Formats: sequence, structure tokens, C-alpha cells
Amino acid sequence: MPFWQDLTHRDFPEALEKTRVAVLLTGALEAHGDHLPLGTDNILPNYLAQAIAEKTNALVLPGINYGDSWIFNQFEGTITISPDILVAFYSNVMKGVFKHGLRYLLVVNGHGGNAGHLETAAKDATEKGDRVVVIVNWWRDLAESARATVLETPEGHAAEDETSEVMHVAPQLVDMEHKTKARVRMKYRIISGQYRKDLIPKATFGDPSKATQEKGKLIMEQASDELIDLVNQLEKHELPILPSEEP
Ligand SMILES: [Zn+2]
Repeated sequence: MPFWQDLTHRDFPEALEKTRVAVLLTGALEAHGDHLPLGTDNILPNYLAQAIAEKTNALVLPGINYGDSWIFNQFEGTITISPDILVAFYSNVMKGVFKHGLRYLLVVNGHGGNAGHLETAAKDATEKGDRVVVIVNWWRDLAESARATVLETPEGHAAEDETSEVMHVAPQLVDMEHKTKARVRMKYRIISGQYRKDLIPKATFGDPSKATQEKGKLIMEQASDELIDLVNQLEKHELPILPSEEP
């Protein structure tokens, strides 16, 4: 169970001999419908990190449990971090990891608002030296076939997919009696601090009615397996590049 924060500084060199990969979780503290916890985007990646720590030697860092939640900032309980602070923070953590000689940093990102900021930070942190950041936007990049098989309605925010996943990982935190359903569509990208609650009513984008624990289990298990495969691939210095398609 190689959790970075559990090691002493004396243990650290030995842990480093066993791996070239560190894992960082990035999430958010933000409203997720009326039925899911504020920490949903941390709770789900955390489950995946446990699976990585159980099955590989990769060093799992403490997560960054706050993110860019600007769009949800009018909802109770949401805390958002400014993009410039987030980029600087990510980049500092990434450089701190590489300073120790690890070659690959696998970021398991749980929140869409962080994705662009992670890329900006990763460009800065990998500018020099033999360093690679792999960003996995897990809800989009992992468990594609499980999602296609089990989900009956489109994915979203506090929708069928995310609700099922929390039902599997932390069922005691799901309140289906208060489930919310909304899906505001926009032809154009509308940005307005004033109209946030109109653009994403009830902090929901989608319909959780068909969510089940079983669906969540299948998605989370497939996602865990894919991440473990990815760590093993990086340990062999293989970048996760897909074969190019025929022109
Ligand atoms: Zn979420």
C-alpha cells in the first residue's frame, strides 16, 4: 500500500526503487444535485487510488480536493479555487514529484473544471527533463465499454453515471428521495456569474432516475482495472498511445 504520506523520509528511497510512477488525485468540493455529496469528485477518484495502491507499487500522493468550481459557486457548500492559484499549485506539486526522480505522474482527475488547468501546469512542469504527466479525466476516459453497456441515459453531472458510482462507493451518502433532474442545453457558450443557477439548475446536468449500485460497480471495477494496466504500462516506459488509424 504505497501511500506517499504514510512513508518516513527514510523509507522513501526504498519505495522509489520499486516504481517510476506517482499518482495524483484532483477533485472538487462542489454541489452535485440535491442527492449526492459535495465531495463526489474526490470520493470517486479516491476509490480508484485505493485500487492502484493495492495492486501496484506506484506512489499515491494525497489528493488535491479543491478545484475550479466557478459554475457551482452560488450553491451552498461549494468552494472554488482561482485558476491561477490552481495552476501554480498543480505545477508546484508536479515539480516536487519529478524532483525525486520519478519519471511519470499519473493524474486521476475527478472534475471537468480542472482539466485545462492541469494541462497548463503539466506543460510547465514537463518543459525540461525526462518527465511525463498523463492526465486521466476518469469519467470520460475510463470504463468506456461498461458505460456503453449499462447506462440508459446520457452521462452528466449528478446524472445516472455519477449517481450509480457513488451508490457503489459510498451508498450511505446518496439520498435518492431528493434526486434532481435537469439538462439545460446551450447552442452557444453562455458565461455569467449572475445566471449560474439558471445555466445548471439544482447543480444537475442529467437524470439520475435509472441509477443503480450494480451499474456503478461495473463502471468502477472496469475503471480500476484500466488504471492498474496504465500504471503497469508506464512502469515499462510505454506511453499509452493508441495505434494510429488508417488514413
Ligand atoms: Zn462530479
